[in-house]
Amino acid sequence: MIYNGIDFDTYLKNYPDENGYFGKYGGSYISDDLKAAMDEITEAYFTICKSRKFISELRRIRKEFQGRPTPISYLERLSGKIGNVQLYVKREDLNHTGAHKLNHCMGEVLLAKYMGKKKVIAETGAGQHGVAMATAAAYFGLECDIYMGSVDIKKQAPNVARMKILGANVVEVTHGLATLKEAVDAAFEAYAKDYKNSMYCIGSVVGPHPFPMMVRDFQSIVGIEAREQFVGMTGELPDAIVACVGGGSNAAGFFSGFLNDPVEIYGVEPLGRGTKLGDHAASLQYGTEGVMHGFNSIMLKDENGEPAPVYSVASGLDYPSSGPEHAFLHELGRVKYDVIGDDDTIDAFFELSRTEGIIPAIESAHAVAYAIKLAKEMGKGSILINLSGRGDKDMDYIIEQYGIR
Ligand SMILES: *Cc1c(COP(=O)(O)O)cnc(C)c1O
Repeated sequence: MIYNGIDFDTYLKNYPDENGYFGKYGGSYISDDLKAAMDEITEAYFTICKSRKFISELRRIRKEFQGRPTPISYLERLSGKIGNVQLYVKREDLNHTGAHKLNHCMGEVLLAKYMGKKKVIAETGAGQHGVAMATAAAYFGLECDIYMGSVDIKKQAPNVARMKILGANVVEVTHGLATLKEAVDAAFEAYAKDYKNSMYCIGSVVGPHPFPMMVRDFQSIVGIEAREQFVGMTGELPDAIVACVGGGSNAAGFFSGFLNDPVEIYGVEPLGRGTKLGDHAASLQYGTEGVMHGFNSIMLKDENGEPAPVYSVASGLDYPSSGPEHAFLHELGRVKYDVIGDDDTIDAFFELSRTEGIIPAIESAHAVAYAIKLAKEMGKGSILINLSGRGDKDMDYIIEQYGIR
């Protein structure tokens, strides 16, 4: 399918280009030391990850350890309540550890093992990426250093405990605002010093080349399975698909299976409390072009051009930019990016729990809320939602903020 001059038949092979660009977005804006390290990963990715041995080992791990393929569930009662649109969810909440993040972490850490690395290094904000990394490192028997700001360590005690139980070393970052940005800088720095021995593993389709490509490719299993399963269940393609977008990894993998199809694709960003800067994290909607964390994309900036403070009720979505591929697909118009706020999200959180017996992650509830809104507009047809994770991690917060409705 040709869309806006781009041939989506060959898109996944041709994008990004060899320097990591999706159009003008992506690339690699880092020090020479780090560039040498990233080049080593890129080279390894194109040789090791394309080898039959790597592919068959990852395939076995997905089946025997992660519990893949995850199913698609038809939301019969919720669809019935809304009208004539049939709603379905791809169940990444049933992937081991309860979210999609393990899909790319298992791929990245398996690559580290094949490269002969002894240690993996990552940063984490809310702790979800840290937990997935700690899980993968434990599985492969590698050391694991997770850099985390002291403010986040205090806020995310259960995830810190999980990482420690899994044997990871949580490195406290105390300078600056002591949150995600400082943790990213500290992890990059530690990696640049020790890249012979270790591998850095990023948490989404962000950062310098090759990460946006590599993470998308590892997540593409979600889109491949979903397309095949949906066609198997219904005999046709969905009319629309929906995923939430923070950094954009669950969306990138899920979308990749449908880019070449006559399917409407929607990426949903968090509008939080409203449109004022600082009240949301809808970077593609309200941001401008800029470089942060080693890549060029669309980002939310403060008056000095630095990454702006952002907010979302879902801690996994409060990132001031999105992956370069999303910026590109947004510019092309192949994917429509829209927003949904906290209130609609929390309504959808309870709605899915009560009508279907599935408690979604608050991140994923953004996609559910948007799909409900879209279904009312469409009037007929089908929508497949990527349910990126389960809501167990959000219980304390929900009870504290909203009570039992
Ligand atoms: C981290 C997380 C997200 C957001 O990350 P993306 O890279 O945008 O997918 C979404 N859902 C869940 C459950 C998460 O843990």
